[in-house]
Amino acid sequence: MKISIPEFKFDELFAKRMDEQDPLNKFRSQFQIPEINAKECLYFTGNSLGLMPKKAKEAVDTELNDWGTWGVEGHFHAKHPWFSYHELLTENLATLSGSKNHEVVAMNGLTANLHFLFASFYRPTAKRFKIICEKKAFPSDQYMLESQAIHHGLKPSDVIIEIGPREGQQLIGHEDIYKAIEKHGDELALVFIGGVNYYSGQLFDMKSITSHAHSVGALAGFDLAHAFGNVELALHDWEVDFAAWCSYKYLNSGPGSISGVFINEKHGLDPDTPRLSGWWGYDKKKRFLMDDGFQAIPGAEGWQLSNAPILSMAVHRVALDLHCSASMHELRKKSILLTSYLEFIFKELNNADSIIKFEIITPEEIEQRGSQLSVIVVGGGKDIFDALSNEGVVADWREPNVIRLAPVPIYNSFSDVFKFGQLLKKIIL
Ligand SMILES: *Cc1c(COP(=O)(O)O)cnc(C)c1O
Repeated sequence: MKISIPEFKFDELFAKRMDEQDPLNKFRSQFQIPEINAKECLYFTGNSLGLMPKKAKEAVDTELNDWGTWGVEGHFHAKHPWFSYHELLTENLATLSGSKNHEVVAMNGLTANLHFLFASFYRPTAKRFKIICEKKAFPSDQYMLESQAIHHGLKPSDVIIEIGPREGQQLIGHEDIYKAIEKHGDELALVFIGGVNYYSGQLFDMKSITSHAHSVGALAGFDLAHAFGNVELALHDWEVDFAAWCSYKYLNSGPGSISGVFINEKHGLDPDTPRLSGWWGYDKKKRFLMDDGFQAIPGAEGWQLSNAPILSMAVHRVALDLHCSASMHELRKKSILLTSYLEFIFKELNNADSIIKFEIITPEEIEQRGSQLSVIVVGGGKDIFDALSNEGVVADWREPNVIRLAPVPIYNSFSDVFKFGQLLKKIIL
């Protein structure tokens, strides 16, 4: 995305002016900002658990009331009938992921979905059995990969090829991924990478990784936990084979809320694509005939297993509506500005007369990052982080010395970023 970055200033008036000019400013009031010491906190952990949309309560209440009123009949008579509730999410999920409607569905939890997707898309043979993934993937993904190998009677060390940063570097070079794809070509079953790395905040070129994987006859899948709702996606056009995400990080849909999957129509519309099935993936017109033999709904819906968790989906529904009315394009524009402003402030602080310095490990190029900066505190430790927490900053600490901050465009302001910088300056001086 081409976007002109203004000349930033580390001052309150400048931040206020940026907020006044921000077309998304009005969305902040749609969220409940937690308070610390009776003051709105500076919340920078939307990459871990997004804030609560105020509409969430009403949305859940509507379903509870309909449950009370209708009992089981709510499946067909509730205001939003539960039988087809997941369909209310489809259009927005497709919009935010750049997919066709029949390529997405909300279901299950993220790690569970990865296993279900692997049941379809990781089918190792004697010749093709390897998986390329990123080093320092989110732990759940590492355990998922390891257990997949073991599940197929293979040794994880034979299957999993981790691509890490080169010696002395923090980021993974795309060239190194492509070289590994070439090298393992004939034996490669799958490239499976986090769209945005949870630790470094590095955004990968999913289109190019997919095309490299395809060029050697392998499939490409992505964990979009840190990408969905954060960066613009075009999963269909990029020809990604499959992907999954969670809804409680950048999508603000509540703790442990429902996950979602993308299954490219070239697999999803093929009834012979193998899968682990359940009744909710069965042809809707015949589901209640309870016949023998599975007949899949064409598309991603055919991967559903269980009937839908309505209370979780109710929050997801209103949260997705907010994101789509803000539009991913506008959110991304603001995210670039907000993240660049935070980066600018760290650079300013590095000019301050302090032994404490900040080294940003997240890529400097805006095409290679979303709304997150991971920052090494040089010459300081957790005391800096603790001091920030005491002042009402909610951020994330990773041992031994990394602070992760996500200025989230749908509710964070330029003033939030300024105030954070002001507090940090006071702490390091
Ligand atoms: C947050 C996150 C998860 C969490 O998995 P759940 O099954 O939702 O608990 C998994 N993978 C990645 C990359 C994540 O960032």
